[in-house]
Amino acid sequence: MRFLFFFLTVGISITTQAQNTADILIKNGKILDGTGNSWFYGDVAIKNGKIIKIGNLIDYTAAKTIDATGMIVSPGFIDVHTHIEGEEMKNPTADNFILDGVTTVVTGNCGASNIDIKKYFQYIDSLRLSINIATLIGHNDVRKAVMRTANRLPTEDELKKMEAIVDQAMKDGAVGLSTGLIYIPGTYSNTDEIVRLSKIASQYKGVYASHMRDEGDSVVQAIEEALFIGKEANMPVEISHFKLSGQQNWGRSKETVAIIEKARKEGIDVTIDQYPYTASSTSLSTLMPDEILADGQDSIKARLQRPEVRKYISAYMLKKLKNRKLKHFSYPVVAFYRADTTMNGKSIEEVNKIMGRKSKAKYETETVMDMMQKGGASMVFHGMSDEDVKRIMQYPFNMFASDASIRIYGQGAPHPRGYGTNARVLSKYVREEKIISLEEAIRRMTSLPAQKFGLTDRGLLKESFAADILIFNENEVQDLSTYEKPHAYSKGFKYVIVNGQLVAENENHLGIRSGMTLHGKGTTAQRIF
Ligand SMILES: [Zn+2]
Repeated sequence: MRFLFFFLTVGISITTQAQNTADILIKNGKILDGTGNSWFYGDVAIKNGKIIKIGNLIDYTAAKTIDATGMIVSPGFIDVHTHIEGEEMKNPTADNFILDGVTTVVTGNCGASNIDIKKYFQYIDSLRLSINIATLIGHNDVRKAVMRTANRLPTEDELKKMEAIVDQAMKDGAVGLSTGLIYIPGTYSNTDEIVRLSKIASQYKGVYASHMRDEGDSVVQAIEEALFIGKEANMPVEISHFKLSGQQNWGRSKETVAIIEKARKEGIDVTIDQYPYTASSTSLSTLMPDEILADGQDSIKARLQRPEVRKYISAYMLKKLKNRKLKHFSYPVVAFYRADTTMNGKSIEEVNKIMGRKSKAKYETETVMDMMQKGGASMVFHGMSDEDVKRIMQYPFNMFASDASIRIYGQGAPHPRGYGTNARVLSKYVREEKIISLEEAIRRMTSLPAQKFGLTDRGLLKESFAADILIFNENEVQDLSTYEKPHAYSKGFKYVIVNGQLVAENENHLGIRSGMTLHGKGTTAQRIF
């Protein structure tokens, strides 16, 4: 209804005054253009999905005028690390992203994506979301398509098949190759395999985006591997959700950020991203040794029935716990356990007690194995220090990314980052703790990710650029999602405009779905919208 009204009024204004008319006119805002420069007072005129004029626009009229007095007008945020696959249809309005200021996401991260990118884009174009979508091609799914979850290196023939899939995906518009080297089957690959596939993506100016082999004790080797791949394949590197996991590694961001900076000085185009929280979110299976997880759930189940295997896993888990200097599995908290949803929100230590077992780490490992036998669970791991989060945040070539999907309001106990990443940066880290400036935060949410992923007409408030625009009050913006009560939208993003259409007004999603698919440089496809 609103949608129809919007178009009718636009039509009328065009016929009455051909010159200097706009679809939307934003008046008297503090224009923060995404370059990192500070704001200036001005107006923004939008027409046919584009920014047509910025300045003192007294001679413009529009069907819709927004008074932005006292508010920041910035480019819409680009979230470079998301996982929306499978949730698009359930909630195409992507409210959690829109109400946190996100107008574009890059999905297909951590090695997990659709294989047929052409089909995926057709699907998204027919569905239409409220946000723009770019996607990576995920190594794990490419490998699975050729060799399932086999725990071995590929033959030359298999590698060629994988190369062909990556080649087609890049031609169909993927923006790069992603890896998830802690997951099955990515973890069974070696560096050479990734280099071979990266070289294909590199031919189409793709980015190598990696969830590295390790984010804890062996993080330095893992960073070196990612940099080596970038160098060998001659392509830009994005290290995903940059962090230090495990108490024994706290403080080492000094060392790891320095490695990134040194690599840049040596000419490697490497950037990083982070979510502004001290807990991570991943599968329960990451507590297990890799070799237990090969060949699918049936094989995992069978292995977990053998007492000697259980003994081996238990010893492995206890050693890892000891490394963390912890006595209990108190840091992994269940987000969603399909077999028994009453466990959602409880730590493994608590789940173990509820199951009636003695409160000892040894029994907690048994509890984890039982949960794995019943299909596993998604988890929130409380394993980082705020000091590291802040030090990484201060690095100028670090972006903010939610590592989240489209949320279904009220479903499960997901990590709060899916609702509040950007609002949290702007409230906690910019306004309250002054870790970085507002201008710098906005640059990292807009022009830096746009440049990195080749989204050349987005990420800045600039004439002829796509009209993805936010209007917000820097003193009011606030994340409300917490670990305990994750289902809460951020507040403060008063207006959200995607491709020239008003998607949210007064912090309410209007149901408008004006997002597009954004294709990488290898694409030969025509833009549909
Ligand atoms: Zn990841």
